[in-house]
Amino acid sequence: MTTLLTGIGLLATQDPELGEIPDAALVIEDGRLAWIGAAAHAPEADTAIDLGGRCVLPGFVDSHAHLVFAGDRAEEFAARMTGQPYTAGGIRSTVAATRAASDEQLRANLSKLTAELHAAGVTTFECKSGYGLDVATEQRSVRIAAEQTPEVTYLGAHVVPAGIDRGDYLDLVCGPMLAACAEHARWVDVFCEQGAFDVDESRAVLRAGMAAGLAPRLHANQLIAGGGVALAVEVDAASADHCTHLTAADIDALAGSSTVATLLPLVEFSTRSPYPDARGLLDAGATVALATDCNPGSGFSTSMPLAIALAVRELRMTPAEAVHAATAGGARALRRDDIGRLAVGSRADLVALDAPSYLHLAYRPGVPLIHRVWLAGQKVR
Ligand SMILES: [Zn+2]
Repeated sequence: MTTLLTGIGLLATQDPELGEIPDAALVIEDGRLAWIGAAAHAPEADTAIDLGGRCVLPGFVDSHAHLVFAGDRAEEFAARMTGQPYTAGGIRSTVAATRAASDEQLRANLSKLTAELHAAGVTTFECKSGYGLDVATEQRSVRIAAEQTPEVTYLGAHVVPAGIDRGDYLDLVCGPMLAACAEHARWVDVFCEQGAFDVDESRAVLRAGMAAGLAPRLHANQLIAGGGVALAVEVDAASADHCTHLTAADIDALAGSSTVATLLPLVEFSTRSPYPDARGLLDAGATVALATDCNPGSGFSTSMPLAIALAVRELRMTPAEAVHAATAGGARALRRDDIGRLAVGSRADLVALDAPSYLHLAYRPGVPLIHRVWLAGQKVR
Protein backbone atom coordinates (compact mmCIF):
# COMPACT_ATOMS: atom_id res chain seq x y z
CA MET A 1 0.00 0.00 0.00
CA THR A 2 1.56 3.29 -1.14
CA THR A 3 0.29 6.85 -0.57
CA LEU A 4 1.38 9.80 -2.68
CA LEU A 5 1.30 13.25 -1.08
CA THR A 6 1.44 15.82 -3.83
CA GLY A 7 0.69 19.52 -4.22
CA ILE A 8 3.31 20.30 -1.55
CA GLY A 9 4.13 23.98 -2.11
CA LEU A 10 7.33 23.72 -0.09
CA LEU A 11 8.90 20.58 1.38
CA ALA A 12 11.35 21.59 4.13
CA THR A 13 13.09 18.24 4.58
CA GLN A 14 15.67 19.23 7.27
CA ASP A 15 17.93 16.77 5.46
CA PRO A 16 21.30 18.38 4.66
CA GLU A 17 21.39 16.96 1.14
CA LEU A 18 17.75 17.43 0.11
CA GLY A 19 17.24 20.87 1.68
CA GLU A 20 14.03 22.65 0.68
CA ILE A 21 12.12 21.41 -2.39
CA PRO A 22 9.42 23.64 -3.97
CA ASP A 23 6.43 22.02 -5.77
CA ALA A 24 7.27 18.67 -4.18
CA ALA A 25 5.72 15.26 -3.66
CA LEU A 26 6.55 12.21 -1.56
CA VAL A 27 5.48 8.60 -1.30
CA ILE A 28 4.74 6.76 1.96
CA GLU A 29 5.05 2.97 2.09
CA ASP A 30 4.82 0.83 5.24
CA GLY A 31 5.22 3.85 7.50
CA ARG A 32 8.41 5.07 5.84
CA LEU A 33 9.24 7.49 3.06
CA ALA A 34 9.80 5.57 -0.16
CA TRP A 35 10.30 8.49 -2.56
CA ILE A 36 10.85 12.29 -2.37
CA GLY A 37 11.23 14.78 -5.20
CA ALA A 38 9.64 17.27 -7.59
CA ALA A 39 5.89 16.70 -8.03
CA ALA A 40 6.37 16.63 -11.81
CA HIS A 41 8.43 13.44 -11.46
CA ALA A 42 6.30 11.67 -8.86
CA PRO A 43 5.64 7.95 -9.40
CA GLU A 44 2.18 6.32 -9.33
CA ALA A 45 0.78 5.21 -5.97
CA ASP A 46 -2.28 3.32 -4.64
CA THR A 47 -3.81 6.52 -3.25
CA ALA A 48 -3.00 10.20 -3.71
CA ILE A 49 -3.64 13.26 -1.51
CA ASP A 50 -3.29 16.76 -2.96
CA LEU A 51 -2.16 19.23 -0.29
CA GLY A 52 -3.08 22.29 -2.35
CA GLY A 53 0.24 24.12 -2.07
CA ARG A 54 0.73 23.67 1.68
CA CYS A 55 4.14 23.47 3.33
CA VAL A 56 5.23 20.06 4.68
CA LEU A 57 7.81 19.50 7.44
CA PRO A 58 9.00 16.56 9.52
CA GLY A 59 6.84 16.09 12.62
CA PHE A 60 8.22 18.07 15.55
CA VAL A 61 10.40 16.19 18.05
CA ASP A 62 9.70 17.39 21.59
CA SER A 63 12.76 16.15 23.45
CA HIS A 64 11.84 17.52 26.90
CA ALA A 65 8.46 17.19 28.64
CA HIS A 66 7.06 16.30 32.09
CA LEU A 67 3.65 14.80 31.38
CA VAL A 68 2.90 12.24 34.12
CA PHE A 69 1.32 14.21 36.94
CA ALA A 70 -1.94 15.23 38.58
CA GLY A 71 -3.13 18.52 40.00
CA ASP A 72 -3.15 22.09 38.83
CA ARG A 73 -0.85 25.04 39.60
CA ALA A 74 -2.73 27.83 37.86
CA GLU A 75 -2.89 29.82 41.14
CA GLU A 76 0.90 29.60 41.49
CA PHE A 77 1.24 30.86 37.90
CA ALA A 78 -1.10 33.78 38.59
CA ALA A 79 0.85 34.68 41.75
CA ARG A 80 4.11 34.56 39.79
CA MET A 81 2.70 36.98 37.25
CA THR A 82 2.13 39.47 40.10
CA GLY A 83 5.81 39.27 41.02
CA GLN A 84 6.54 36.13 43.07
CA PRO A 85 9.71 34.38 41.77
CA TYR A 86 9.82 30.84 40.36
CA THR A 87 11.65 28.36 42.60
CA ALA A 88 12.19 24.60 42.41
CA GLY A 89 10.01 24.10 45.52
CA GLY A 90 6.67 24.33 43.67
CA ILE A 91 7.34 20.81 42.37
CA ARG A 92 6.35 19.44 45.79
CA SER A 93 2.70 20.48 45.39
CA THR A 94 2.44 18.43 42.18
CA VAL A 95 4.08 15.50 43.99
CA ALA A 96 1.29 15.36 46.59
CA ALA A 97 -1.41 15.33 43.87
CA THR A 98 0.46 12.75 41.77
CA ARG A 99 0.94 10.34 44.67
CA ALA A 100 -2.79 10.57 45.43
CA ALA A 101 -3.86 9.92 41.82
CA SER A 102 -4.78 6.49 40.46
CA ASP A 103 -3.04 4.91 37.48
CA GLU A 104 -6.20 5.61 35.47
CA GLN A 105 -6.12 9.30 36.33
CA LEU A 106 -2.43 9.61 35.42
CA ARG A 107 -2.99 7.69 32.19
CA ALA A 108 -6.00 9.84 31.21
CA ASN A 109 -4.06 13.06 31.82
CA LEU A 110 -1.11 11.78 29.77
CA SER A 111 -3.43 10.72 26.92
CA LYS A 112 -4.99 14.19 26.85
CA LEU A 113 -1.55 15.83 26.68
CA THR A 114 -0.44 13.37 23.98
CA ALA A 115 -3.46 14.42 21.89
CA GLU A 116 -2.51 18.07 22.45
CA LEU A 117 1.05 17.35 21.30
CA HIS A 118 -0.22 15.66 18.13
CA ALA A 119 -2.49 18.64 17.46
CA ALA A 120 0.60 20.85 17.81
CA GLY A 121 2.46 18.80 15.18
CA VAL A 122 4.59 16.77 17.59
CA THR A 123 5.14 13.17 16.44
CA THR A 124 7.82 12.11 18.95
CA PHE A 125 8.02 13.23 22.56
CA GLU A 126 10.16 12.52 25.56
CA CYS A 127 8.42 12.09 28.92
CA LYS A 128 9.99 12.31 32.37
CA SER A 129 8.97 10.95 35.74
CA GLY A 130 9.78 13.10 38.76
CA TYR A 131 6.46 13.89 40.44
CA GLY A 132 6.39 10.68 42.46
CA LEU A 133 9.65 10.88 44.40
CA ASP A 134 8.91 7.57 46.10
CA VAL A 135 9.65 4.14 44.67
CA ALA A 136 6.05 3.16 43.94
CA THR A 137 4.98 6.42 42.27
CA GLU A 138 8.17 6.85 40.25
CA GLN A 139 7.78 3.28 39.02
CA ARG A 140 4.11 3.93 38.12
CA SER A 141 5.15 7.11 36.31
CA VAL A 142 7.75 5.54 34.02
CA ARG A 143 5.52 2.51 33.38
CA ILE A 144 2.58 4.70 32.30
CA ALA A 145 4.85 6.97 30.23
CA ALA A 146 6.25 3.93 28.41
CA GLU A 147 2.73 3.08 27.21
CA GLN A 148 2.77 6.27 25.09
CA THR A 149 6.41 6.85 24.08
CA PRO A 150 9.72 4.96 23.88
CA GLU A 151 11.56 8.10 25.07
CA VAL A 152 11.00 7.70 28.80
CA THR A 153 13.26 9.43 31.32
CA TYR A 154 13.77 8.50 34.96
CA LEU A 155 13.87 11.77 36.93
CA GLY A 156 13.74 10.56 40.52
CA ALA A 157 16.30 13.33 41.19
CA HIS A 158 13.84 16.14 40.49
CA VAL A 159 13.88 17.59 44.02
CA VAL A 160 14.34 16.16 47.54
CA PRO A 161 10.80 15.48 48.81
CA ALA A 162 9.60 16.78 52.15
CA GLY A 163 10.15 14.57 55.20
CA ILE A 164 13.26 12.64 54.10
CA ASP A 165 16.96 13.19 54.75
CA ARG A 166 18.88 14.38 51.70
CA GLY A 167 21.49 11.62 51.83
CA ASP A 168 18.87 8.94 52.38
CA TYR A 169 16.91 10.23 49.39
CA LEU A 170 19.98 10.14 47.12
CA ASP A 171 20.63 6.55 48.24
CA LEU A 172 17.04 5.71 47.29
CA VAL A 173 17.31 7.43 43.87
CA CYS A 174 20.56 5.59 43.06
CA GLY A 175 19.40 2.29 44.59
CA PRO A 176 15.89 0.80 44.97
CA MET A 177 14.08 3.54 42.99
CA LEU A 178 16.45 3.20 40.04
CA ALA A 179 16.12 -0.58 40.17
CA ALA A 180 12.32 -0.28 40.03
CA CYS A 181 12.34 2.22 37.14
CA ALA A 182 15.21 1.20 34.87
CA GLU A 183 13.34 -1.44 32.85
CA HIS A 184 10.72 1.12 31.76
CA ALA A 185 13.12 3.97 30.91
CA ARG A 186 15.73 4.81 28.28
CA TRP A 187 17.19 7.92 29.96
CA VAL A 188 18.32 9.21 33.36
CA ASP A 189 18.03 12.92 34.17
CA VAL A 190 18.72 15.17 37.18
CA PHE A 191 17.49 18.67 38.04
CA CYS A 192 21.02 20.04 38.57
CA GLU A 193 20.09 23.42 39.98
CA GLN A 194 20.09 25.75 42.94
CA GLY A 195 17.39 24.39 45.27
CA ALA A 196 17.52 20.90 43.74
CA PHE A 197 20.79 18.90 43.28
CA ASP A 198 24.40 20.11 43.12
CA VAL A 199 26.98 18.97 40.57
CA ASP A 200 28.49 16.17 42.69
CA GLU A 201 25.06 14.80 43.61
CA SER A 202 23.96 15.03 39.97
CA ARG A 203 27.09 13.20 38.79
CA ALA A 204 26.44 10.38 41.26
CA VAL A 205 22.84 9.96 40.05
CA LEU A 206 23.82 10.02 36.36
CA ARG A 207 26.63 7.50 36.96
CA ALA A 208 24.25 5.17 38.82
CA GLY A 209 21.71 5.43 35.99
CA MET A 210 24.39 4.77 33.38
CA ALA A 211 25.54 1.71 35.31
CA ALA A 212 21.92 0.48 35.15
CA GLY A 213 21.89 0.86 31.35
CA LEU A 214 20.26 4.29 31.05
CA ALA A 215 21.72 7.12 28.94
CA PRO A 216 22.22 10.55 30.52
CA ARG A 217 20.58 13.92 29.89
CA LEU A 218 20.53 16.84 32.31
CA HIS A 219 18.55 19.89 33.45
CA ALA A 220 21.38 22.44 33.52
CA ASN A 221 21.91 26.17 34.04
CA GLN A 222 18.26 27.20 34.26
CA LEU A 223 18.45 29.51 37.26
CA ILE A 224 22.22 30.19 37.58
CA ALA A 225 25.40 29.55 35.58
CA GLY A 226 26.37 26.57 37.77
CA GLY A 227 28.36 23.53 36.68
CA GLY A 228 25.51 21.64 35.03
CA VAL A 229 26.58 22.17 31.42
CA ALA A 230 30.15 21.12 32.18
CA LEU A 231 28.84 17.97 33.87
CA ALA A 232 26.59 17.18 30.89
CA VAL A 233 29.57 17.41 28.54
CA GLU A 234 31.77 15.41 30.95
CA VAL A 235 29.39 12.41 30.89
CA ASP A 236 28.56 12.83 27.15
CA ALA A 237 24.92 13.52 27.95
CA ALA A 238 22.69 13.53 24.87
CA SER A 239 21.42 16.93 25.92
CA ALA A 240 21.91 19.79 28.38
CA ASP A 241 18.48 21.31 28.82
CA HIS A 242 17.54 24.94 29.60
CA CYS A 243 21.02 26.58 29.17
CA THR A 244 19.43 29.87 30.26
CA HIS A 245 22.57 31.11 32.04
CA LEU A 246 25.76 30.17 30.20
CA THR A 247 29.39 31.23 30.52
CA ALA A 248 31.64 31.55 27.48
CA ALA A 249 33.31 28.32 28.63
CA ASP A 250 29.92 26.55 28.68
CA ILE A 251 29.24 27.62 25.08
CA ASP A 252 32.71 26.42 23.99
CA ALA A 253 32.22 23.11 25.80
CA LEU A 254 28.85 22.48 24.13
CA ALA A 255 30.18 23.48 20.69
CA GLY A 256 33.08 21.05 21.07
CA SER A 257 30.90 18.12 22.18
CA SER A 258 28.08 15.91 20.93
CA THR A 259 25.84 17.19 23.74
CA VAL A 260 22.89 19.12 22.31
CA ALA A 261 21.90 22.45 23.88
CA THR A 262 18.13 22.13 24.32
CA LEU A 263 16.41 25.47 24.72
CA LEU A 264 12.97 25.75 26.33
CA PRO A 265 11.71 29.28 25.67
CA LEU A 266 8.14 28.54 26.78
CA VAL A 267 9.58 28.32 30.31
CA GLU A 268 11.24 31.73 30.14
CA PHE A 269 7.99 33.09 28.69
CA SER A 270 5.90 31.53 31.48
CA THR A 271 8.28 32.52 34.30
CA ARG A 272 9.09 35.95 32.85
CA SER A 273 12.81 35.11 32.86
CA PRO A 274 15.66 36.14 30.56
CA TYR A 275 15.96 34.03 27.40
CA PRO A 276 19.04 31.88 26.65
CA ASP A 277 21.79 32.98 24.27
CA ALA A 278 20.76 30.95 21.24
CA ARG A 279 22.82 33.13 18.90
CA GLY A 280 25.98 32.55 20.94
CA LEU A 281 25.40 28.79 20.81
CA LEU A 282 24.58 28.65 17.09
CA ASP A 283 27.38 30.99 16.08
CA ALA A 284 29.86 28.87 18.08
CA GLY A 285 28.68 25.75 16.23
CA ALA A 286 26.70 24.02 18.99
CA THR A 287 23.74 21.83 18.03
CA VAL A 288 20.55 23.44 19.34
CA ALA A 289 17.19 21.77 19.97
CA LEU A 290 13.89 23.41 20.87
CA ALA A 291 11.43 21.62 23.13
CA THR A 292 8.30 22.51 25.12
CA ASP A 293 9.30 21.45 28.67
CA CYS A 294 5.55 21.06 29.12
CA ASN A 295 5.03 20.75 32.90
CA PRO A 296 2.44 21.95 35.41
CA GLY A 297 4.73 24.48 37.11
CA SER A 298 7.18 26.50 35.05
CA GLY A 299 5.49 26.27 31.65
CA PHE A 300 2.28 24.36 30.89
CA SER A 301 2.24 24.47 27.10
CA THR A 302 2.38 21.73 24.46
CA SER A 303 2.72 24.28 21.65
CA MET A 304 5.86 23.63 19.65
CA PRO A 305 4.72 26.28 17.11
CA LEU A 306 4.69 28.88 19.91
CA ALA A 307 8.16 27.72 21.02
CA ILE A 308 9.32 28.31 17.42
CA ALA A 309 7.73 31.77 17.34
CA LEU A 310 9.46 32.68 20.63
CA ALA A 311 12.78 31.32 19.37
CA VAL A 312 12.55 33.67 16.41
CA ARG A 313 11.14 36.71 18.19
CA GLU A 314 13.03 36.47 21.51
CA LEU A 315 16.06 34.22 20.90
CA ARG A 316 16.90 35.76 17.52
CA MET A 317 17.02 32.45 15.71
CA THR A 318 16.04 32.55 12.04
CA PRO A 319 12.79 30.73 11.19
CA ALA A 320 14.86 28.08 9.38
CA GLU A 321 17.10 27.60 12.46
CA ALA A 322 14.08 27.38 14.76
CA VAL A 323 12.29 24.78 12.63
CA HIS A 324 15.52 22.77 12.31
CA ALA A 325 15.99 22.87 16.10
CA ALA A 326 12.38 21.69 16.64
CA THR A 327 12.82 18.72 14.28
CA ALA A 328 16.38 17.58 13.49
CA GLY A 329 17.72 19.20 16.69
CA GLY A 330 15.21 17.34 18.84
CA ALA A 331 16.10 14.09 17.08
CA ARG A 332 19.80 14.70 17.89
CA ALA A 333 18.87 15.39 21.51
CA LEU A 334 17.27 11.92 21.57
CA ARG A 335 20.13 10.40 19.54
CA ARG A 336 17.67 9.27 16.86
CA ASP A 337 18.37 9.31 13.12
CA ASP A 338 15.05 7.87 11.89
CA ILE A 339 13.02 10.99 12.76
CA GLY A 340 13.37 14.79 12.56
CA ARG A 341 14.16 14.87 8.83
CA LEU A 342 12.55 13.67 5.63
CA ALA A 343 14.63 11.40 3.40
CA VAL A 344 14.04 8.05 1.73
CA GLY A 345 13.91 5.46 4.51
CA SER A 346 13.09 7.85 7.35
CA ARG A 347 9.87 7.40 9.31
CA ALA A 348 6.85 9.05 7.68
CA ASP A 349 6.27 11.52 10.52
CA LEU A 350 4.92 14.60 8.75
CA VAL A 351 3.21 17.90 9.38
CA ALA A 352 1.28 19.80 6.71
CA LEU A 353 0.84 23.47 7.61
CA ASP A 354 -2.13 25.60 6.63
CA ALA A 355 0.44 27.95 5.12
CA PRO A 356 2.67 28.08 2.04
CA SER A 357 5.88 28.28 4.10
CA TYR A 358 7.25 27.44 7.55
CA LEU A 359 7.97 31.18 7.94
CA HIS A 360 4.33 31.45 8.97
CA LEU A 361 5.05 29.53 12.21
CA ALA A 362 6.84 32.67 13.48
CA TYR A 363 5.02 35.22 11.31
CA ARG A 364 1.60 34.16 12.68
CA PRO A 365 2.23 33.44 16.40
CA GLY A 366 -0.57 31.73 18.28
CA VAL A 367 -2.52 30.85 15.12
CA PRO A 368 -3.36 27.13 14.74
CA LEU A 369 -1.53 26.32 11.50
CA ILE A 370 -1.25 22.55 11.91
CA HIS A 371 -3.41 21.15 9.11
CA ARG A 372 -2.60 17.43 9.13
CA VAL A 373 -0.19 15.21 11.04
CA TRP A 374 1.00 11.73 10.05
CA LEU A 375 2.77 9.43 12.50
CA ALA A 376 4.60 6.57 10.76
CA GLY A 377 2.38 7.19 7.75
CA GLN A 378 -0.89 7.09 9.74
CA LYS A 379 -2.98 10.23 10.02
CA VAL A 380 -3.29 11.28 13.68
CA ARG A 381 -4.97 14.56 12.79
ZN1 LIG B 1 12.19 20.06 32.60
